[in-house]
Amino acid sequence: MIRADFLEVIMRLSALSFLWLFALAMPLFAHDHAHHHESHEAHVHGKAQLQVAGEGTDLLVSLRSPAANFLGFEHTPQTEKERKTANQARDFLQKVAQWLGLEGGNCRIASVDIGNAEAHEHHTDIEVEAMFHCAKLAELQGLSLELFSEFPAVETIELEWVIEQRQGSAVLSREKPRAALGR
Ligand SMILES: [Zn+2]
Repeated sequence: MIRADFLEVIMRLSALSFLWLFALAMPLFAHDHAHHHESHEAHVHGKAQLQVAGEGTDLLVSLRSPAANFLGFEHTPQTEKERKTANQARDFLQKVAQWLGLEGGNCRIASVDIGNAEAHEHHTDIEVEAMFHCAKLAELQGLSLELFSEFPAVETIELEWVIEQRQGSAVLSREKPRAALGR
């Protein structure tokens, strides 16, 4: 993978960019009008997207999910109970090591950002971006998620990853929470 492709991946991973969701939707909408589709194509309750991009010593992990998967609602919290639910979910997601396991690579977390993005009318996505520094990125062999018991509404997570010369995709679920990142 040449560097330009990697930068494209990083751009697609950027919290406010919907380009990568568009790219994911492409195979489903093969006609010319595909470019009229927007990010909301990916907003399906029960599903989430995970993108992983690595180069050099940097590894960016981006999780995007309908808020309903984590909170049970998508409006701004209004009651004390809703505020508590939102805060608890945020606290859990903020501690990335609680829900993301990296196998090999000697990676340490460098930063975490959590934000909301409007998916379409009355629907909201939650985005988590975690940047890691990995001393031996080439030796990163797999990842596993521990989101499914904390958030039972999450059914499947579509993983796409690009690490140096390698890339792949997988669908993760409660039954299959691990993906190999090796060749
Ligand atoms: Zn929704």
